[in-house]
Amino acid sequence: MNKAYLWHPFTQMRDYENTDPLIIERGEGIMLFDVQGRAYYDGFSSVWLNVHGHNVPELNEAIADQLGRVAHSTLLGMANIPAIELAAKLAEITPNGLNKTFYSDSGATGVEIAIKMAFQYWSNRGNTRKKTFVTMDQAYHGDTIGAVSVGAIPLYHEVFRPMLFPSHVIPYPYGYRHTGGAPGAKEATLTALRLLLETSGDEIAALIVEPIVQGAGGMIVMPSGCLREMAELCREHDVLLIADEVATGFGRTGAMFACDLEGVTPDLMVVGKGLTGGYLPVAATLATDEVYGAFHADYLERKTFFHGHSYTGNPLGCAVALASLKLLEERNMVQGVIAKESFVRRKLKALEERPHVGEIRQKGLMIGIELVRDKALREPFAWEDRIGVRVAARARELGMLTRPLGNVIVFIPPLASTEDELDVMTDLLTASIVDVTEGQSSA
Ligand code: PMP
Repeated sequence: MNKAYLWHPFTQMRDYENTDPLIIERGEGIMLFDVQGRAYYDGFSSVWLNVHGHNVPELNEAIADQLGRVAHSTLLGMANIPAIELAAKLAEITPNGLNKTFYSDSGATGVEIAIKMAFQYWSNRGNTRKKTFVTMDQAYHGDTIGAVSVGAIPLYHEVFRPMLFPSHVIPYPYGYRHTGGAPGAKEATLTALRLLLETSGDEIAALIVEPIVQGAGGMIVMPSGCLREMAELCREHDVLLIADEVATGFGRTGAMFACDLEGVTPDLMVVGKGLTGGYLPVAATLATDEVYGAFHADYLERKTFFHGHSYTGNPLGCAVALASLKLLEERNMVQGVIAKESFVRRKLKALEERPHVGEIRQKGLMIGIELVRDKALREPFAWEDRIGVRVAARARELGMLTRPLGNVIVFIPPLASTEDELDVMTDLLTASIVDVTEGQSSA
């Protein structure tokens, strides 16, 4: 039935039909169990979103408690208690000045909202010239049309190009693949942004960026200071900054938000994934009072933000998000990520010596390991080698789940993973990489 009726996301179904499908039945802590009862470590947090593990009593109870009240009503002209309380909590924990929450259901819709808000912000202020967006090479912001228009991963986005609005693309500071290393890459990014803003800033509504770590582009960590300098350039040129914290938010990088690492307050910030601890599909777009103020007018002025979804502000999702944030605070988990970050770094150090490990990139518990065919030349494995897919398949055989990004192996364990669990997972990860790249198994 799985093969007959389901069309899987980001999947070539012809390939999938020839695989032994993995069907998950239940989860407990950071383990997932399939229908045959086999156990797997959730090595990529079920697509980078699980925070506290699975089947967490406090989170289950928060949903059950809310379910006994109301599962859903609407935010159209009314409100519900969890949605209100969560918005207040988000205002408290996000960078200073982001005080207004607009809910949606996924990272992509959160991005879509940020883009529309930025566009309408300028229009509401009487500036109809500022219409375009700046994004970064290899950016990923979700799969809806607006989010794809500010996306820059050719494999995913090129086929849709004729139906998209055009965006400016500046280089992402990818130190490993820049001739000048990290400093050169940072300079190239800042120079490109500065030039673009000097020549076309008056036509640009906003810059959208994945702060500190570019996720789907390959878990690429920005050189330090780059985000702050980009934010300053935007401010100088009257261009809004949209921070897409969908992947990086809620402790993942060792700070509550990646923007906190450089003291940056964006004008709009998108959160999703870990917001509900990885339980339910809720996302939020946070706006500063300044952005919100541009929409605040007499109805007849036509400055209303006409956007919303049927499930906007879903009470079950907001209730579990509140419970998740409570656990994050009570258990001091963001602090915990910093200790776990060093532990994992030490454990993965030995992998650096391996012949096909090009670079290990890490910020907090967000890790990407770039595999290369020739280490000295930094020559990538060919697409046809499917090296990432084979490493992930080997990891699954060994009892750990992850999903690669091309030649980059992703390791994003749930924040709640203990050192013992991280110890086992890093061993499994190492074994999978060594087995496949050094020919002991073709999986
Ligand atoms: N932005 C970023 C930075 C992401 O990593 C993702 C998802 N990987 C999204 C947006 C899209 O989120 P969703 O899949 O919930 O639509």
